[in-house]
Amino acid sequence: MHYGIDIGGTKIEIARFDGAWQRLDHWREPTPADDGEALLETLAAMVAEADRRTGNAGTLGIGIPGVIDRQGNLVAANLPGLRQVSLVRTLAKRFDRPVALENDSRCFIVSETGPGGSAEGVEHAFGAILGTGAGGGAVVGGRPLRGSGGFAGEWGHLPLSASAIARYDLPVLACGCGLEGCLESYVSGPGVARLYRHFGGEGLTAEQWHAAWQAKESSAISAHECHLDLLGEALGNVVKLLAPEVIVVGGGLSTLDCVIDELPGALSRHLFAGIALPRVVRSYFGAASGVRGAAMQGAALATSSDE
Ligand SMILES: [Zn+2]
Repeated sequence: MHYGIDIGGTKIEIARFDGAWQRLDHWREPTPADDGEALLETLAAMVAEADRRTGNAGTLGIGIPGVIDRQGNLVAANLPGLRQVSLVRTLAKRFDRPVALENDSRCFIVSETGPGGSAEGVEHAFGAILGTGAGGGAVVGGRPLRGSGGFAGEWGHLPLSASAIARYDLPVLACGCGLEGCLESYVSGPGVARLYRHFGGEGLTAEQWHAAWQAKESSAISAHECHLDLLGEALGNVVKLLAPEVIVVGGGLSTLDCVIDELPGALSRHLFAGIALPRVVRSYFGAASGVRGAAMQGAALATSSDE
């Protein structure tokens, strides 16, 4: 049996999968985000319950919204309670089994390139998650790409190009990461709402922008065109670097046909002759990709430690 855990800012989800990657059950607990010890206790209780249901110890993978370095330390996350903890060692000791700890965006693309995913069996794929932020992760040669510091795939914190800023007269916004002009501020859910206001619309959310776009409001149409152009340019940069065969789009904005269907065209305008246009697909597992990808990483780690 394989367990996947997805630690979010407000809730922790655990799921049990069988050997064919069918999900047997799943449940949630609130995240004690500020209290590291309470968080470990919650995880321990969830794993104990999973073991009780299974009848023995399953493999364990944990997805977390943060950067995990090569030593298994969490170096950046919105979980203050878990900073400065050697998480992999602490967890492996606590649960008496190897524990895979993985960034949740990387869990997303591992799940989507795994059994039943939207890019099943694809060896070179990029996952772009357009939700409250713009996260991402790559699978290269069939393996998740972590890079040296564990942060490979952070396309949302690439800067907006000077030509895009000039073309749309965009403000250069400060990003929560400490840099300025990060794409995330313009292409995420809150980002497209910001573009809508930039073009004169009145609305604070992506839903309001989308409703106005459906009503053919001109500021919403301008925001849509600008948003697609910025996304095309950003993902075009990803294509030039990683040459993925498929780009899997997840997150709230991926549910909108006007984003998914027009993205290949927007992308092609930012590529040059000789570069193959990747397929753009909507994620199959959506938000459930976190626990699934984490469980897959846990299973892979258990296999490699048995060898
Ligand atoms: Zn940033």
